[in-house]
Amino acid sequence: MSLKEIFCQDKAIDILQRAFASGKWAHAYIFAGPEGVGKYKTACEWAKLLLCKNPIIDNDFADSCGSCRACQLFEAESHPDFNHIYKELREFTKDGKGKPPPVDLPIDVIREFLIEKVSTKPTLSQRKVFVVSEAERLNAHSQNALLKVLEEPPEYCSIILLCTRLEKLLPTTKSRSQIIRFGPIDEEQIIEKLQQMNIEEKQARYFARLAQGSLGAACQWAELELADANLYETKKELVSSLADYEIADALSLAQKLLEKSKKIAGVWTNLDEATSKTDINRRAAKTLVQIIISALYDAMNLNVTPTKEAINFDQKEQVKKLAGRFDAEQSAEKISDCYKMLHWIESSVNEKLIFEKLLLNLAESDRMTV
Ligand SMILES: [Zn+2]
Repeated sequence: MSLKEIFCQDKAIDILQRAFASGKWAHAYIFAGPEGVGKYKTACEWAKLLLCKNPIIDNDFADSCGSCRACQLFEAESHPDFNHIYKELREFTKDGKGKPPPVDLPIDVIREFLIEKVSTKPTLSQRKVFVVSEAERLNAHSQNALLKVLEEPPEYCSIILLCTRLEKLLPTTKSRSQIIRFGPIDEEQIIEKLQQMNIEEKQARYFARLAQGSLGAACQWAELELADANLYETKKELVSSLADYEIADALSLAQKLLEKSKKIAGVWTNLDEATSKTDINRRAAKTLVQIIISALYDAMNLNVTPTKEAINFDQKEQVKKLAGRFDAEQSAEKISDCYKMLHWIESSVNEKLIFEKLLLNLAESDRMTV
């Protein structure tokens, strides 16, 4: 992989290229944008370029050479001057052994894996690069601890914060970094990519629409599909059930959702061993809630702007039924309830409770029960 191969983030790459050409790149960047649009990949390829011993410049485009010792070690994930910082590292901090996986990015991780390492000089390359994943999970305490490094980093140091929610960062953190924005990826390009992975056109289109520009999310779902997690069938069943179900079915449907969520999480764990089980469970539950949101969103649009292309274009009848149950305002309300549930999933509330609450909420106050 190289910078050239980053998918559809030309604007961000262009900013980095110009900085590289002038030799005046920022010591701290914030890569901001939705999940799964290439922020981490770009950060890694940028780091590889900064660490490369013989960068290649072709048509004004600078890229790592891919063959020097630095590049080889980078590709083997063992370059000593590259540091990836993520919340699960807590297990490897001095006091972190045996603690459950954290929800926030703990200050111990920032202190031991970033602040303390910044002061030692690079060992192999000219520079040292730190990439911090999920910077939106840094609390004020951790951000304050980081400030000094962001303000006066040693000149060999480059820090990149990856962030999906800029509003979570303190103004002081933002003002000490250069913000580069990563936009959503075009639907047709996501479809093309999924088809290259051998996903059928119809499913690819559905996953692309559900992903709303997140290539990463779409690819993960495609991989799940290829590993027989039956995600697409599950979504079809789920949307059909939503169109027809009554309040009396809420608890049994919640139980079914819980089982599906566990099954998906099981397959996901095999595909992604680096992510904690808790996070995988959360992702699986979130995917199912996103599917419910997509159906409600389609129902809402059908009542307001019927010409808009549906996410569930493959289940028009069911969406029509849903639109008959909920008017636009009710759909909007239900969608906002679902977002609340997504937040609960993040806050580690019991999944069974979440699905039950969600489905009971959904059955309430529709036109059939009024
Ligand atoms: Zn190289």
